[in-house]
Amino acid sequence: MPKIGNPKSSVDIPCERCGSKRKVSKKWTEKIENSGGFMVLEHTQIICTNKECQAEFDKLVLADEAKREKLKQTKLDNAAKRASETPQIV
Ligand SMILES: [Zn+2]
Repeated sequence: MPKIGNPKSSVDIPCERCGSKRKVSKKWTEKIENSGGFMVLEHTQIICTNKECQAEFDKLVLADEAKREKLKQTKLDNAAKRASETPQIV
């Protein structure tokens, strides 16, 4: 029985960076509670079968995460600074 509204599996879509075939490297589910009970989210991690391309991508992701982490830290630092510098108004 064909699934209704089943989108083309993203594994079938070639890598947008190098055009190589892609494959599923990880699959996991996440349970999220909401007002109506809970829902289960399915996650799929798809990687490129081209090792060099994937390595390059991993590097980009890591760099991106590092950047975000730094930004977050800067914000925290600034907030802490402001908090210690601002005189308490009573
Ligand atoms: Zn690729």
